[in-house]
Amino acid sequence: MTEIELLRKVRARMGPGSLIGDDCARIEGPRRGHELLVTTDLFLENTHFLRSTHSAADVGHKVLARGLSDIAAMGGTPLYCFLSLSLPQWADASWVRRFYDGLLALAARHKTRLAGGDLAHGETLAADIVVVGEVPLRAALGRGGARAGDAIYVSGVLGGASEGLKSGKGPGFARLRRPEPRIALGQYLRGKATSCMDLSDGLAIDLHRLCLESKVAAVVDHPLPASPGASLEQALHGGDDYELLFTAPPRRRVPEVWRGLPLTRIGSIVAGRAGKMTFFGRALPPLGYDHFQNS
Ligand SMILES: [Mg+2]
Repeated sequence: MTEIELLRKVRARMGPGSLIGDDCARIEGPRRGHELLVTTDLFLENTHFLRSTHSAADVGHKVLARGLSDIAAMGGTPLYCFLSLSLPQWADASWVRRFYDGLLALAARHKTRLAGGDLAHGETLAADIVVVGEVPLRAALGRGGARAGDAIYVSGVLGGASEGLKSGKGPGFARLRRPEPRIALGQYLRGKATSCMDLSDGLAIDLHRLCLESKVAAVVDHPLPASPGASLEQALHGGDDYELLFTAPPRRRVPEVWRGLPLTRIGSIVAGRAGKMTFFGRALPPLGYDHFQNS
C-alpha cells in the first residue's frame, strides 16, 4: 500500500471535515484572530538518515527542521516543539548533548521553545517531533487551493539533497544534513499563493499530492532550478530539499528572487484528471527518490 492509499483509507474512516490533508492540522486556538497549526514527524535511523552521513548535531537540526518546514508550508509562525527520543546503546551522553545543540540552535533562530517530550531506550534511534505554531485566521496556506490557470513555483534549487547523499560533499551534502525551513517565505506567501506545501519527498510526488488535494492537473514546462551537480532525475524525484512548492494566480507578480532566495516558475495548473502531470509533454510519474538506493 502506498502512503497516498493508506491516507485515503484513514481519511475515509474520519468522514467529512477530516483535519488530515495539509502539512499541519488547523485547530481553533485560544488567541483571538488566530488558529493553531500542529504537525508531527518521525525521523528514523536507517529510514530517514544514516549515522555515516549525519552528525549528532545534524540529526538534532534536521528533526526540528522537518517539523518547522511543515509550519512554513502553511504560512505559520512556530511557537513550541515537543521531542520524543528513542535512544540506542551507541548514542552516548556526548552524542545526545550534541544532538540537542543542533536542535536548540535552530529552535532559537526561529524562536521556538522546546516544551516537552519523552525519552526511552530502543534498538535504533527514533525521534518524533511535534511542532505547534499559529497563523492568522483564514490566512493559512494549504494544498487544496490550486486552480486551473495558476502558475506553479518552487523556491531555491532542487535535487541538492539527493545529489549530496551520492557525492558526500558540496552544497547538496550541506542541504541534506542541514535543511533550512522556509518560515519567512511561507509567511510572505500568505494572501498571495493559492496553495503551498513543502518539498520533503521530491517534486514529482509532492506536486502530485498537491494536485490530488486541489483536484487539478499540472503541466511542468519550464526548466527546473536544479542544484549544482544534480541530475534532472534528482531534481524531479529527489527528496529532502525542504523548499516550498506553491501556486499563484497568473496575474500575481512573484519576484524572481526574494530575500536572496530564487522563486522559479516551473509550469501551470490545468484542468484535467486530478493528479495528472506532464513534464515537457510527457507523462510524469509521481515517484519519489529512494534515499538509500545509491548509498
Ligand atoms: Mg510537509
